[in-house]
Amino acid sequence: MAPYDSDSSAGEGDDFTETNVLLGYASRDPKDESISRLGGRPEWLDENTPPSAALARCHICKDLMVLLLQLDGELPDRFPGHERRLYVFSCRRKTCRRREGSIRALRSLRIAPGTAAAAASREKKRVEEQAAKSRAKEEKPAPKPPSNLGETLFGAQTIGSPSGSANPFSTGAAGSAFGSNPFSSGSNPFSTETKPEPKTTTAVPPTTAEKIESLPKTFAETLSLNNNQPAASPAPPPEPWPAAADQPPPYPASYLSEAEYETLDPVSPPTVPQTARMDVDAAEPGKGGGGGKEDREVFESSMDAAFQRFADRLAQNPEQAIRYEFSGQPLLYSKTDAVGKLLAPAATGANNNSGGITIASVANGGTPGMPRCGGCGGARAFEVQMAPRAIAELEADEMSLEGMDWGTVIVGVCERDCQARGVEEGQVGYVEEWAGVQWEELTGGGKRR
Ligand SMILES: [Zn+2]
Ligand SMILES: [Zn+2]
Repeated sequence: MAPYDSDSSAGEGDDFTETNVLLGYASRDPKDESISRLGGRPEWLDENTPPSAALARCHICKDLMVLLLQLDGELPDRFPGHERRLYVFSCRRKTCRRREGSIRALRSLRIAPGTAAAAASREKKRVEEQAAKSRAKEEKPAPKPPSNLGETLFGAQTIGSPSGSANPFSTGAAGSAFGSNPFSSGSNPFSTETKPEPKTTTAVPPTTAEKIESLPKTFAETLSLNNNQPAASPAPPPEPWPAAADQPPPYPASYLSEAEYETLDPVSPPTVPQTARMDVDAAEPGKGGGGGKEDREVFESSMDAAFQRFADRLAQNPEQAIRYEFSGQPLLYSKTDAVGKLLAPAATGANNNSGGITIASVANGGTPGMPRCGGCGGARAFEVQMAPRAIAELEADEMSLEGMDWGTVIVGVCERDCQARGVEEGQVGYVEEWAGVQWEELTGGGKRR
């Protein structure tokens, strides 16, 4: 379990100062970061295997979109052998703003050859060990199933490090078992394995490749055959990308070269007005009054409370451009817009009036309320969200006063990190993921940021 529920409604008043949310900070100086960044042009895992340009077209105007975020999403503890990268695109046209489909997310994946067989090998070994233990009538608890391994990729690091000390993004973390993070490339023990041509000098801990060698041939071959089955239904032919000169101009690149776990000031008093809190409490079932005017007031005050909580949380680390926590909880800008209504009931644990969708999602893991993976039909989990600070970075060179007007972009991804249909191990595939955009609320007081 995470030591801190990133939804502060569950953690307020506790002593925690550090959360499991990794904050990314943008800088024009790339330092050691070559992949994770805001803006610029997308760089693919394999430059010869771009996604279909159709996946980067605005659903409204059909124009090609530009990159908001490119993120190195490798999680070797959770998804060993998976080279992952996330992309968030946005349409540049003002007429497309505030419309669904003008911001889209893509997950790119290359699974190292032998990964599925190695996973099966681990599972086989686990089952054998379990059987051996039960034969010996040992009373020790069985090892956790693989699905739980790496659950606390970041959390484990958080526990061991005093608040504000070691920066998990520094190269010093490379030797640590938990040293991998989605912003830093090439610092994980699987990196050599996931490259087509393995380096010769790097010392590599026992890897999937070595485990494959110890695997009985027939078993591996059987799995390999099973794994190739999706190839029978190839994807439609990809649409080529226009030349760079014919694409809309990209935003300037700023690199997510620094990051740290979010720390919250435990001594600062709650800044949400008490009146707003009381109104939210009144909105819980059985406590509300029921009059039309009261309902409206409750609605407005809970909207304010959600935004206030968002603003207060960001204000503690105002430079954060992105918030990252695989399977964590997104910080909602609003609980009353379309995305807020989708995710808020689960995030708060209250006001659950969205019916069976939430319950079904809970039963399968993932982040409740998020639409299921379009690739495999499995649950989706929150992975990253963009904070308003990212807009300032992306629009640093823009002369126009009318900038982007989202409050946050929430990205939900396949919890199982499935590969696109028909893409074999060793090949690069692309799966569209869920981008939940919470647009800036336009109130009487103007823009709120
Ligand atoms: Zn558009
Ligand atoms: Zn999937």
